[in-house]
Amino acid sequence: MKHQNPVETLANTRHEFGEHGGVNMSVEASTTFTVMHPDIMPEIFGGKKGPDHGGCYLYGRHFNPTVYNLGKQLAALEGTEAAYCTASGMSAISATLMQLCDTGDHIVSSNAVYGGTYALMHDLLPGKTGINTTLVDITDLAVVEAAITERTRVIYTESMANPTLRIADIPALSKIAKRHGLQLVVDNTFTPLILSPKKLGADIVVHSMTKFISGASDYIAGAVCADTAFIEQLMDLHTGMLMIFGPTMDPQVAFNISLRIPHLPIRMTEHGQRTRIFAERLHAMGMAVNYPGLPNHPDHELMSEIHCPEYGYGGILTLDMGTEERANELLELLQNEHNFGFVAVSLGYFDTLMSCSGSSTSSEMTDEDKTAAHISPGLIRLSIGYTGTTEQRWAQLLGALEQVGQSPAQRIA
Ligand code: PLP
Repeated sequence: MKHQNPVETLANTRHEFGEHGGVNMSVEASTTFTVMHPDIMPEIFGGKKGPDHGGCYLYGRHFNPTVYNLGKQLAALEGTEAAYCTASGMSAISATLMQLCDTGDHIVSSNAVYGGTYALMHDLLPGKTGINTTLVDITDLAVVEAAITERTRVIYTESMANPTLRIADIPALSKIAKRHGLQLVVDNTFTPLILSPKKLGADIVVHSMTKFISGASDYIAGAVCADTAFIEQLMDLHTGMLMIFGPTMDPQVAFNISLRIPHLPIRMTEHGQRTRIFAERLHAMGMAVNYPGLPNHPDHELMSEIHCPEYGYGGILTLDMGTEERANELLELLQNEHNFGFVAVSLGYFDTLMSCSGSSTSSEMTDEDKTAAHISPGLIRLSIGYTGTTEQRWAQLLGALEQVGQSPAQRIA
């Protein structure tokens, strides 16, 4: 498969200069915009006249120039016609699903998704809206297709699943979606630049920009990347989910995130290289490590075929310590004795973040659903940072592992 590095599209995107020719765009701090000729107000409200077609900006919840410009960067990153930035990843996901489905409609979703997304589909949507979801093993294409009903509108998956790190076969899912007239929605939070879901056949790509795209764990932010028609639906002043629920991104946040997009490729490369080194060494020690870059990962071949090779296999690995107690023992040592990283949910930070998924970011799931998705109680998710040197961090990791009785000598013997 021929891969185009998304940085080429990003580099060709029109640069937004600041108001006075500054190399950085300006922050537009107005919540409302002057309509110079009142007679065009109805056309602006009807979505017929925007800033790009003979009209002007209207109101900050609709869209703001700074937020709009970040959206253009996201569209370039994902290779979509348009994108809209939101106040969080969850608002991007919930608005997308609510826009696509009406009462009585149905979603076929991966059973391994972020806990908040699970709670939305498993609990909130059925109760509040009558939109139901069947959770399936997204890597079993026959099961995915068999779950489709007359009322199915959406196939939903994460490109790399949180926290199982299974890889969705987006080209194959896209064929199924097209055959049944469904929208394929892919959450690409774990793999910006590494996987390009739209180019692989997805219809809509959602992001929690809170993670790798921001990279500093300082902002909660999200995005929906799709064709112009869908983004316009979301933004419709009278009916759009984003307009009516109003999860608006602050322009200052958009400005700050936009300054991090240019070095996202460097960060993703470094996250990926360090994670691969640790995964290989942990594997050599005989640890229960899971990483798509390892040849023993069930989706290694698939990912090798569909990823952009410049960015490797991602910045996250999981380690199964068998029980929650042993996982917590290791986490305690890694953070409080060896300074390896922080016990904190989230990911994509410059330092290492670690958490036991079953009791944190997947805690919304029933025990039965956790078992079905292979989320065991001792599973630790590690988002590998790039501060310090690789060898310094490895020595810290090894030190903690030795203390819990997992020294290389013991494991290899
Ligand atoms: N999607 C994935 C894969 C996530 O891991 C998360 C959060 O952890 C979200 C979406 C939700 O994002 P946010 O916290 O920005 O709402």
